[in-house]
Amino acid sequence: MIEDCIICPGYRNAQGYGRKQVKGVKYQAHRVAYAKANGLDVSTLVGVVMHKCDNPGCINPKHLTLGTHSDNMQDMVQKGRSMRGEKHRSAVLTLEQAKEIRARHVPNCRVNGSSALAREYGVSHTTICQTVRNKRWTESPSSQLCENQGIAS
Ligand SMILES: [Zn+2]
Repeated sequence: MIEDCIICPGYRNAQGYGRKQVKGVKYQAHRVAYAKANGLDVSTLVGVVMHKCDNPGCINPKHLTLGTHSDNMQDMVQKGRSMRGEKHRSAVLTLEQAKEIRARHVPNCRVNGSSALAREYGVSHTTICQTVRNKRWTESPSSQLCENQGIAS
């Protein structure tokens, strides 16, 4: 890494992501930093802003890259963080994705609402709602994959 990480000051959530408020809406700080550096509007930013440095609190735009959901999956697979391949993409979210969804979810939002997130992550609307309500996911690694729909057994 050519430049050092810039750690978002102030509040950070349990996953280490900073929060930043723009026009009264809270976003992940790194999404805001990415949008700003690229002349984009964070409220319409689609896709997953990933950290090349793997430092969730980092807001150095040079360490941030915008990827699609499948890029993110590949990135996770490469980094060995994914427990499962892409076979069950219609039903399964990783714990990381669940956290991302919870952090991003804004009710009735065109970009971060349940329907938009469902499309982006390739899961059902119900899965998003349940994920947001924290029904399916806990912080325990052993329950990382507790979605049963669509898994052949
Ligand atoms: Zn960084």
